[in-house]
Amino acid sequence: MTHQKMSVGDIHTLAKDTLMKFGTDDLNASAVADIITMAERDGCVSHGLFRLPGYVATLKSGKVDGKARPTINKLAPAVVQVNGHNCFAPTALKAGHAPLIEAAKTCGIAVMPLIGIHHFAALWTELEPVCEAGLAAFACTSYKPSVIPAGGKKALFGTNPIAFGWPRHGRAPMIFDMATSVMARGEVGVAARDGHTLPEGVGVDADGNPTRDPNEILKGALMTFGGYKGSSLSMMVELLAGAMVGESFSFEAAKRDNNDGGPPQGGEFLMAIDPSLVRGDDGWNDHAEGFFDKILEQDGTRLPGDRRVANRAKHDKEGVEVSEIILGKISAL
Ligand code: NDP
Repeated sequence: MTHQKMSVGDIHTLAKDTLMKFGTDDLNASAVADIITMAERDGCVSHGLFRLPGYVATLKSGKVDGKARPTINKLAPAVVQVNGHNCFAPTALKAGHAPLIEAAKTCGIAVMPLIGIHHFAALWTELEPVCEAGLAAFACTSYKPSVIPAGGKKALFGTNPIAFGWPRHGRAPMIFDMATSVMARGEVGVAARDGHTLPEGVGVDADGNPTRDPNEILKGALMTFGGYKGSSLSMMVELLAGAMVGESFSFEAAKRDNNDGGPPQGGEFLMAIDPSLVRGDDGWNDHAEGFFDKILEQDGTRLPGDRRVANRAKHDKEGVEVSEIILGKISAL
């Protein structure tokens, strides 16, 4: 597979210009281009330019309003609801971050239920601004059924990612961000695009038979990681991003989706916690850093997010190798 080197700035321009060509205004195009660029810059290719054709598909079909203006509804002092009015999730998150951070710094803990959004992104991009404000954060979102509940045969859960972030003085926050499926569907899509075979235990074909072919898994279903334990976490995501925020479960989102290749309308749950207020002093940073050191003194360990942060420094300086296959798909749009 051949690649083309692009600067981080050029990636942002390509993403933003493409979105604007399909009827997105500056505010919405910038918000989405920001998170596509962050993903490319940190080496998370399954959530970078790879997603642009999907974003465009939803604009073309009219499912997403590229000119939407999210509204903030403070349901309680610590509950900052954002209604995206059918926007892409990054626009709603951008609108909600400042009031969420303010509420968490006042109340010690605050939640941001997001409704009326279309989510297609990596969650860490959404927690980073919250953690950079000195807060711990948690986020999760559902999608459309593509994962089997433990013991079942039919897809019911989305790939339902969970992310947790921890602020660190003077350095990038520690953020882990993972699908509750064995593998993110985007990664399966990348493997299918590149003609790779997947390990055993990732998913099943349309008839429920185990397969290593990513194209067959895309027609069939994935499995959760960790058997019934991962399945319970995935169920928790459905409850928090669905029943808790007043949005759809994955199976409900699928019923009204037009299957245009982009994200369905759904919800998200985000929580921010001020460690200084919860603990009553500022000792949390040194305490946690000592703990991270304890992990890292063991050979073979690293902190979640370290790969991304290392990529960031390199790519900011040297640019990013972008697949020509995906660039071809974007120019074909
Ligand atoms: P990975 O399995 O690649 O990584 C999961 C987490 O584990 C990352 O934080 C990663 O950090 C960390 N990690 C990986 N290896 C190690 C290690 N050896 N030691 C310590 N930490 C490690 O992610 P997934 O494939 O599960 O998910 C990819 C992305 O897909 C996520 O960003 C998720 O939000 C997104 N997604 C979005 C969906 C949506 O509907 N919007 C649906 C499903 C997934 P690092 O990044 O540094 O490698």
